[in-house]
Amino acid sequence: MTSDLVPGWYIMLYHDVSWEESPFIRYIGGTCPPDVFRDHVQACEGLGELVSIRDGMEKLKRGDIASPLFSFWFDDGFVGVRKYAAPILAERGSTGATSICSRFTNRSEMFWRCKLSYLQSSDAGRHLRARLRKYGYSRSELVREFVIDRFGGEVLSVINTLYDETTSRSVQEDAFRIFDTPDGLIELHKRGWVIANHSAAHYPISEKHVHDMLMDQFEECERFIQSLIGTESNYWVTPFAQNIEPSAISASQKHRDEKNIVLVGNRVNVCTSFESTRTLYRIDAPANDRNQLAQVLFAASQQSQLIWGHRRRHRSRRQAGIAVTPKAA
Ligand SMILES: [Zn+2]
Repeated sequence: MTSDLVPGWYIMLYHDVSWEESPFIRYIGGTCPPDVFRDHVQACEGLGELVSIRDGMEKLKRGDIASPLFSFWFDDGFVGVRKYAAPILAERGSTGATSICSRFTNRSEMFWRCKLSYLQSSDAGRHLRARLRKYGYSRSELVREFVIDRFGGEVLSVINTLYDETTSRSVQEDAFRIFDTPDGLIELHKRGWVIANHSAAHYPISEKHVHDMLMDQFEECERFIQSLIGTESNYWVTPFAQNIEPSAISASQKHRDEKNIVLVGNRVNVCTSFESTRTLYRIDAPANDRNQLAQVLFAASQQSQLIWGHRRRHRSRRQAGIAVTPKAA
């Protein structure tokens, strides 16, 4: 099937796929209803070929991508991925990747953004804003932006304390059911899904001085994944798509060749880009919109032409023959 999309690997990013949206998610957003997800998968199938993450990676490394390939990736480890998205992909013989935060999966720490969402959906929102004022929050700012900018022990402690004060133990325990369980992830792994490392607790790391904490967070999650499926994750998905250099990982991990950094860049993965960056880019899927998908895909396709078009002209002839076919008119 021909299309006007540039040849490359299009990795679509979702979070939860579910009919429900709990107060723990309501203020974060991004839940994709299963029927919309099914339409997206069908649309992608009409524009190219569905591939598993492993097959996409093989083709990318071999320089063997001559048409649009599509894969599906899910961040944060929600249970809806196994419950709703996996069967839809399985109908087409495909699988995806799920990026987990180990503390959400093992129920030791609730996602701080979910706590924020819950507080904001209840009367506690105003208490939260009042307590954050001490750390520089002003009324004109959005709480979620302020919290990401100023993230650290103090801000986290404000959220945790208020959450503990305003929710009962049973509510706190029940809240974890939005995330998949260790057994659920083992099941997905057995079915051929990729279990990716999304750090221990999804802390945003924006300053250099907390860089070490980011590595600790990835290593903690790595140990968890190892204990779960008996093998390390090859994919490190940064929280909030914050860029970390593969060299930073090699310093700490010493096996750079096996780690791939996974970001959201709304662009297509082409062989030449991956060779130089060892970074996979995903495309933020319009989670609750059937009609915007094509638009988003074409924008990513165009963006990649702008970024990689120049380099493409300088590739070796061997790669040119394998990796890229002329765009359909
Ligand atoms: Zn995330």
